Amino acid sequence: MFKTIVSGIFVILSASSCQKNEEAPDTPDLPSIAPVPAEAITQFSGQRAFDHVKTLTDFGPRPPESEGYRKSLDYLEKQLHELGWKTKRSSFQSETPIGRITFTNLIARYAPHSEPDWRLSPPILIGGHLDSKRYPDKVFLGVNDSGSSTGVMLELAHTLSRYQGSALNVELVFFDGEEAILENMVFRKDGLYGSTHYAQQLRKRNTLPSLGIVIDLVGDPNVNLLIGRDSSPTATAHAQQAAKTLQLEKQVTLAPGSILDDHVPLIVFANLPVLHLIGDFGKMPYWHKEGDTLDKITPAALENTGKLTLQVLHQLTQKKN
Ligand SMILES: [Zn+2]
Repeated sequence: MFKTIVSGIFVILSASSCQKNEEAPDTPDLPSIAPVPAEAITQFSGQRAFDHVKTLTDFGPRPPESEGYRKSLDYLEKQLHELGWKTKRSSFQSETPIGRITFTNLIARYAPHSEPDWRLSPPILIGGHLDSKRYPDKVFLGVNDSGSSTGVMLELAHTLSRYQGSALNVELVFFDGEEAILENMVFRKDGLYGSTHYAQQLRKRNTLPSLGIVIDLVGDPNVNLLIGRDSSPTATAHAQQAAKTLQLEKQVTLAPGSILDDHVPLIVFANLPVLHLIGDFGKMPYWHKEGDTLDKITPAALENTGKLTLQVLHQLTQKKN
């Protein structure tokens, strides 16, 4: 994830972002396959999410094409398959400032008894990046950025699969290449490789999701979880209502400005309404530094994010009378 802060305001550098805000679609009513029950929210385990992050950390740095990334993909597939999810590796090449790189997104659907129809989309997409930022000269483990969202997504898969109909509402996608190769992310030039490819492929499907939820940097208990300003009005209202229901209003607040992250290609290339949830990285002195280690995150913070996401899903999938 990339930040620019000017006088405490987050801004996007890309010129296209101006258009994006005007064009960003709102979230329509969701054609829920099966409601996510309130009971599911209480089942999310921050400890299980944390244990996943710890395992990923043990694989070492996870930049694109690395051994750590390959081990992480294998681990995710094994975990998801055991829970009844089918997975698809989506590999592609992109030009980067250091030449062509092969990236691999991992897409997952709950389908214990058959192969899912990948041309159709469930109503809700949940995405987060798996890659860690590439540093040729230092060991960067990327525990919060973004082992944290990966751990939360694996535990979401676990929780939703206990309520089988609920899991059918969701596609999970673990993005590769979110991080810029050079120091700073520049939209359409460096960074967001995986989400850009995914969004472009999504447009070729017969149906699109109704909402894309993107989570990033969600494990630090000492900073707020921000609702990104590019989130659709309806999704923002749902996230605020969910925070209130879970008594997390103080910890879950609106971002002061737009933040460039994996949700932007979903809006720009697939016209998806989004909910962007991101930890307040401006208050993380270890952000993109070697100090992004396991001691910076807690099971409780991961659990808050997981429960908030499930509460939003619960609200979105309730039948309206
Ligand atoms: Zn980052």
